Amino acid sequence: MRDPVLVINCGSSSIKYALVPEDPALPRQSGLAERLGVNDARLKGIDADGREFSQPLHGADHAEAMAVILERLGGPPPAAVGHRIVHGGERFTGATRIDPAVLRAIETTGALAPLHNPANLVGVRATLALFPALPQVAVFDTAFHQSLPPRAYRYALPQHLYAQHGIRRYGFHGSSHAYVSGRVDHLSTRAHGGWLVAHLGNGCSTCAVWQGQSVDTSMGLTPLEGLVMGTRSGDVDPGLHAHLGRQLGWSLERIDTLLNKESGLLGLSGISNDMRRLEQAAAEHHPGAELAIEVFCYRIAKSLAALSCSLPRLDGIVFTGGIGENASAVRARVIEALPHFGLRLSATANAETVGGQEGRIDAGAAGPELWVIPTDEEGQIAFETRQLLSETPA
Ligand code: ADP
Repeated sequence: MRDPVLVINCGSSSIKYALVPEDPALPRQSGLAERLGVNDARLKGIDADGREFSQPLHGADHAEAMAVILERLGGPPPAAVGHRIVHGGERFTGATRIDPAVLRAIETTGALAPLHNPANLVGVRATLALFPALPQVAVFDTAFHQSLPPRAYRYALPQHLYAQHGIRRYGFHGSSHAYVSGRVDHLSTRAHGGWLVAHLGNGCSTCAVWQGQSVDTSMGLTPLEGLVMGTRSGDVDPGLHAHLGRQLGWSLERIDTLLNKESGLLGLSGISNDMRRLEQAAAEHHPGAELAIEVFCYRIAKSLAALSCSLPRLDGIVFTGGIGENASAVRARVIEALPHFGLRLSATANAETVGGQEGRIDAGAAGPELWVIPTDEEGQIAFETRQLLSETPA
């Protein structure tokens, strides 16, 4: 299948897309339709000739925006469409060809991701209506972590909550962890080993990968568990909910908003969820920004140390995501907070490996390796889509 695969990531008011050719060296057309359904809806992106564009969508809904995107892409139709779907529950352990039964199953799984799966499905339906004959594949954020053993995915809660309601840890960012761990296995001489991956973007998660399989990860039933993120708290005492309810009379909705939208780097710093802004403010000794970065880095180190228990052997740590790929000072602080791991950072390589560069940042001693690998979730979704369709042609 030589033609490009169209990758669609549909949110409640946005559609992110990329037309991914098979050859990774070829350029991609990509873009983002935002604020769908309201007057100032816009489509921004990069054209076939590599030029940036921005056009108004005049209150377009998802289906109308998809039609504009397809017109903009021009050329022959893609070979297939790969859709990012947030939650695949326990049913979906890998990329899956979309048919009516699969659509229904994604809908049912929506109870576990009420904000995400229904929005993802809007994108699937709009694309199915425009391209009824084209193969369409669902690639799940949770699927890569379906290899977790029960000791990693079960909460210490009554068994019936798991058996009857699917309450367990699922993990997210699967396409990113799959891509990055696959890439380090390809690049390192310690191929097929034990890796810890830190995906640090607006959402943040860690993952332990042993011989290409996820064996533990920091996110859980929802993407709120684990690390400090842009606006999400990550781990808190589960007793916090009852405390806020009793002492402040807060509703569950209020607490959910607090933990998802008002916490994390934003909550700690009091000024921003954006690491660039916080690094600037910390350089000017803003106490909130300094504390936010300190807590952020410490919690990453603590999570990596915890996840290392799941690996028979630690071959290295890989940083990815907007912060992991660019914030060399954050990487240095995380490594500094793991003094007993025998890690040796090369200050020069660390400072130089930024802005989308891929490379090793350790000082080359016997200890675990340190890598920066820019993530490519769209590339991974396109890859899995191609792979599935070549294994099971229509
Ligand atoms: P998303 O999870 O939405 O895909 P990204 O992976 O793009 O987000 O990560 C966004 C984060 O990366 C933001 O906190 C941003 O400040 C941070 N970031 C991007 N570039 C830099 C940089 N040069 N230095 C520090 N942080 C950066």
